[in-house]
Amino acid sequence: MLARFKQKLKLMIKITFPDNSVKEYQEGVTGMDIAKSISNSLAKEVLAVSVNEEIWDVSRPISKDASIRLHKFDDKEGKLAFWHSSAHLMAEALEALYPGTKFGIGPAIENGFYYDVDPGNGAIITDADLPRIEDKMKELASHKSTYNRKLISKEDVKKLFKRKGDEYKLELIDELEDGTISLYSQGNFTDLCRGPHLPDTSPIKAIKLLHVAGAYWRGDENRKQLTRIYGITFPKQSMLDDYLEMLEQAKARDHRKIGKELELFTFSQTVGSGLPLWLPKGAALRERLQDFLKKVQKRYGYDLVMTPHIGHKDLYVTSGHYEKYGKDSYQPIHTPQEGEEYLLKPMNCPHHCEIYKTKPRSYRDLPIRMAEFGTVYRYEQSGELHGLTRVRGFTQDDAHIFCRPDQLKDEFKKVIDIILYIFKILDFEDFTTQISLRDKEDKEKYIGTDENWEKAEQAIIEATEEKGIKTIIEYGEAAFYGPKLDFMVKDALGRNWQLGTIQVDYNLPDRFELEYIGSDDHKHRPVMIHRAPFGSMERFVAVLIEHTAGKFPLWLSPDQVIVLPISEKFHDYSEKVLNFLNNSDIRTLIDKRNEKIGKKIRESELKRIPYLLIIGEKEVANGTVAVRKQGEGDQGTMKLEEFADFINKEVEKQTAIN
Ligand SMILES: [Zn+2]
Ligand SMILES: [Zn+2]
Repeated sequence: MLARFKQKLKLMIKITFPDNSVKEYQEGVTGMDIAKSISNSLAKEVLAVSVNEEIWDVSRPISKDASIRLHKFDDKEGKLAFWHSSAHLMAEALEALYPGTKFGIGPAIENGFYYDVDPGNGAIITDADLPRIEDKMKELASHKSTYNRKLISKEDVKKLFKRKGDEYKLELIDELEDGTISLYSQGNFTDLCRGPHLPDTSPIKAIKLLHVAGAYWRGDENRKQLTRIYGITFPKQSMLDDYLEMLEQAKARDHRKIGKELELFTFSQTVGSGLPLWLPKGAALRERLQDFLKKVQKRYGYDLVMTPHIGHKDLYVTSGHYEKYGKDSYQPIHTPQEGEEYLLKPMNCPHHCEIYKTKPRSYRDLPIRMAEFGTVYRYEQSGELHGLTRVRGFTQDDAHIFCRPDQLKDEFKKVIDIILYIFKILDFEDFTTQISLRDKEDKEKYIGTDENWEKAEQAIIEATEEKGIKTIIEYGEAAFYGPKLDFMVKDALGRNWQLGTIQVDYNLPDRFELEYIGSDDHKHRPVMIHRAPFGSMERFVAVLIEHTAGKFPLWLSPDQVIVLPISEKFHDYSEKVLNFLNNSDIRTLIDKRNEKIGKKIRESELKRIPYLLIIGEKEVANGTVAVRKQGEGDQGTMKLEEFADFINKEVEKQTAIN
């Protein structure tokens, strides 16, 4: 009896939940069992489980004490399992419809999944084939096939895929370490895979395959082009309907489309791919954003500097950027002088380090905050280019703060203040942040002393806490040279965009041998902070366009007011209105075309001009303007001076620094 009791004790393991509560379960308990022990409704929704921060299938037995988190569809881990399982389901459908298909990789992505495939027997898959594949997926999903995980020796896995003749998988297997490899099967399909997967195919209720694209195997232009099929799935049809509706809206908000309509920017193949040309209205918009930032930065004690677009190769050898960008980016520029080489500037930081070095610095001089709207150039493959969000030349709203280690936290807090202020002014109310720290297990791969790292990590954590911003901490995500804090904003359609970043750096001060004289009269190394609230002007303008659908806040709008005379009789007074407003610093246009007023109003609304002034007989007689607001219609009549005053006060309110 006692022996049996002891044996039973041995079989219990401790499971720690996210709220730090601990429960005992039998050894071999699965995520699903744990969910069931909590509630049936949770068990119905649970899709995956993190076991000591590794995502597992909910059907996989847990044999040791562990910390767990259960994931439903609303977690990113839950979506990952759902969409990756859907990729396998699509592969099963493809194998059924196109026998002999070979498979590359099929990951879950931010929205849905894709699979890169080489269709069997020379078949070609186009968008027109997607409904048929979708139907097959629906049929297979309804079979409720379980996703079975199996561990097999590398040799046996190789034999299996050799039999299938799948050279892509064989190449992937060759790169894996020796030992056992996990395979997943559902229905008639088996894949080399780390998982995680759903227990079975039945939760995949709503399926939409979105489009087909070409993708080089392993991203290498010299290798075979495979067919990439994108899709998305949901546990409910209504969720898919909402998503497709959002996609429609996103199309209407595409910054490339609106940028063209509003004449903000353009691209020219003659100038070169990924090199945006800012048109007058776009340039003015960007200038206003920069002026706004300059004002904020001045208030926070930044000094503006300017540095050239190219730099000597040695500068980037010192900074380490030559090693990183030299081979894979723009090639060096050679001068008539033998052996002299320059690089297009990939980063502003090395230049700023040289500015720091122009004179001796004391502990009393720090922090030094150097800001520059610095244009940098990085090569991107032409397939990666996308409007203003992925370009080959862009201007960072860059700044570098050189400070003492004991000033880090305060400086971090100040940068957070700037970023929060910008988000508030530009109406990005919904944002999340991520702190990226060192890998706890492997501290060797980071430069800088243990003490400094701990100080910096603590400073970031405390700074975010004191500023009351919600944040998640990711271990092992820090760069080798320092921890960082990233800001992601949610736009009006609920899409996430990575914008601002604050990054601590111990590396460049070392490489450039930056120093200051401390209060102890000894030489010390400053810490460097890189920060860019917008990221880049290009990317930020793109996000702003998609967030506002081109309806910029009044202070930013390229044109703020348009004067619309009802007929030619009122042109003289309308001109007077135009001049008065322009002289009052209000960006005003006039539409004197011989068109019906209804048409003029409609077209001005399409141009997203915030205020329309209708001028007719009454207005001329009374020295007034009839005001219409974009999207809100008639606002009544105002005296001209009163209107100008109102607009200027609005602008002031919108950009007030508090
Ligand atoms: Zn898989
Ligand atoms: Zn930098």
